[in-house]
Amino acid sequence: MLVLDGIPAVRNAVRAARDDGRTIGFVPTMGYLHEGHLSLIDRCRELADLVAISIYVNPLQFGPDEDYDAYPRDLERDLELAEDRGVDLAFTPDDDELYPESPAVAVTPRRLADRLCGAGRPGHFEGVLTVVAKLFGIVQPDVAVFGQKDFQQSVLIRRMVADLNMPVRIEVAPTVRDPDGLAMSSRNEYLSSGERERALSISRGLAEAVRAYRSGERHAGSLVAGVREALERAGGVRIEYVDCVSSEDLEPVQEAGSDAVIAVAVHVGGTRLIDNVRLAAPDPGLERLISG
Ligand code: AMP
Repeated sequence: MLVLDGIPAVRNAVRAARDDGRTIGFVPTMGYLHEGHLSLIDRCRELADLVAISIYVNPLQFGPDEDYDAYPRDLERDLELAEDRGVDLAFTPDDDELYPESPAVAVTPRRLADRLCGAGRPGHFEGVLTVVAKLFGIVQPDVAVFGQKDFQQSVLIRRMVADLNMPVRIEVAPTVRDPDGLAMSSRNEYLSSGERERALSISRGLAEAVRAYRSGERHAGSLVAGVREALERAGGVRIEYVDCVSSEDLEPVQEAGSDAVIAVAVHVGGTRLIDNVRLAAPDPGLERLISG
């Protein structure tokens, strides 16, 4: 595995692969890799000849009161996991490499970013889209793989690529969960065992919503109320939002159709956690909770 922290070196490696007729796949991450990230790498391997990842905690997407400094980092371990999983190239820039000076130009979403996570994290998606656009400009992948776990992010990235005519195919892979149902996240590291127990109410609530949907419930208000009840039952879970939206335009729906997603953000102790489920096509990791 090539480990490169400079932009020109990445460009050279990618150009050489392309000259050999190989296609380029890309998985951007903030590191502290877990099985969720690694599943994206596996998917990328199915879609491209060269698999590149980036490991970079992007300061632009953190608000002033958020966990940028505390965000877990372990580059050595990440590189071992990536190499074991067959990654060909890991791009590990530092801040000076990506932002040699304060950027004068950014990618600002006009719609879709003012709701769900965007409502509570102003500027977050501008930071995400700007760094992803930069990384696409550096790696120039044919395909890039993102996780359904960050549902709103995946919708915005698809729109960025469509609206700015970026020549990259976007793939979205299912959320990977721990056996108890908790969606994997680098931030789960922050949870005490008691907090983790309370956090399980998120996946339980989503599973209940899928059960209700399968029994014929289509009223979004009732589905959302069921999730809220599960979260409130757990105690110590502060709800930021629970919404039932269309996966096309993120608009709240009254009736949950085949494209409806229930998306959740909560705070457990000092940790912000998000999760979501497509009611008509839940990720396989939720199935045990749904039928259990
Ligand atoms: P992050 O390192 O948290 O910025 O995430 C990097 C990529 O991994 C994003 O596309 C995330 O959506 C994806 N990801 C994070 N957690 C999971 C998970 N549990 N399952 C699948 N993909 C995930």
